[in-house]
Amino acid sequence: MATKRLVFNFPPHLIDQPVTYQLITEHNLKINILRARITPREWGRLVVEVSGKKQNLDAGLQFASDLGLDIKPLAQDVQWDAEKCIACTACCSVCPTGALSVTRQDMQVSFDHDKCIACELCIPVCPYEAMQIEF
Ligand code: SF4
Ligand code: SF4
Repeated sequence: MATKRLVFNFPPHLIDQPVTYQLITEHNLKINILRARITPREWGRLVVEVSGKKQNLDAGLQFASDLGLDIKPLAQDVQWDAEKCIACTACCSVCPTGALSVTRQDMQVSFDHDKCIACELCIPVCPYEAMQIEF
């Protein structure tokens, strides 16, 4: 079993297509939609967690890519700028997944890409714009 957290970018002509349904029914994948932003006649974006057998995952993502979806790893879109961060910990208390956390012994803040679901809650609370999401 393999799991990937991805951003699906739908071009306008694919927004009405049942791509996720096909990934579930034809490629036997489990899809957990973490976040969605769809605007009719414009690009749409889904943040998803996709899991299944590795060969099904590879084939399903190839199918979606061949259709015209732009697929990127979620981690690529969420960035923590350690240079700007002053470890105030404001973001750690709002982060729902523990992607942003603080080590109490030395009060060091760290960011774990793999836990991030791109909910954006950390963006407005950071006074130094250390968290950036590009989509
Ligand atoms: S975007 Fe959400 S899940 Fe990701 S680090 Fe920020 S608060 Fe945590
Ligand atoms: S809110 Fe900003 S400055 Fe404070 S710990 Fe989080 S990323 Fe660093």
